[in-house]
Amino acid sequence: MSIAENYRLVEAQLPQGTRLVAVSKYHPVEALEEAYGAGCRVFGESHVQELQAKRPQLPADIEWHFIGHLQTNKVKYIAPYIAMIHAVDSPRLLQEIHRQAVRCGRQIPCLLELHVAMEATKYGFSPEDCMAFLAGGEWRKWTGARICGIMCMASNVDDEERIAADFERAASFFREARERFFADDPGFCECSWGMSHDYGLAIRHGSTLVRVGSKIFGPRDY
Ligand SMILES: *Cc1c(COP(=O)(O)O)cnc(C)c1O
Repeated sequence: MSIAENYRLVEAQLPQGTRLVAVSKYHPVEALEEAYGAGCRVFGESHVQELQAKRPQLPADIEWHFIGHLQTNKVKYIAPYIAMIHAVDSPRLLQEIHRQAVRCGRQIPCLLELHVAMEATKYGFSPEDCMAFLAGGEWRKWTGARICGIMCMASNVDDEERIAADFERAASFFREARERFFADDPGFCECSWGMSHDYGLAIRHGSTLVRVGSKIFGPRDY
């Protein structure tokens, strides 16, 4: 199947209220052009340098999402145009996004990355730390960075029950955070979870943004 066919197939499976972020990292501009030709307007990249190189070669109406780990010192490069930053994993990064957004006269939609998977990683807030950070309220001053929801990656396992449990933990965190801190902010509405192998399950557990790469573009050779 072609990239265009894959894109249409995944897109057709999404219920209303769930959007597709086509994860194009490591794929050449031609691959993105093919997806674009099939109607794709939302692309996800996870390396600043790669994104900076690709963007000028593609149409201007693309919504670029940054989905990977973002180093604080690189925020300034993408701040003028990035549509959403998915994996905000520290207060320091959120504050820097605020600073750079203000410099550009923008407000940048951000998602807080929650670590719910069983694998150890240095990225993502623990649910406890994330709730404490929200309760602290310092983020309310950082108006350039608009917190629009939660992002997570499920455990990298075949066990569907385990994956479902991870998504459910993130979903229940999202609901609690919304109730406690965003009750009068309808902009806090995004749940970014689900990749090529688990987006069906993610949708059943409240995902509003699925980040699908290899199912559309094929395997990546790193
Ligand atoms: C690469 C990546 C994806 C897409 O993974 P696939 O398995 O190719 O769909 C989704 N989210 C993040 C954060 C990624 O880095």
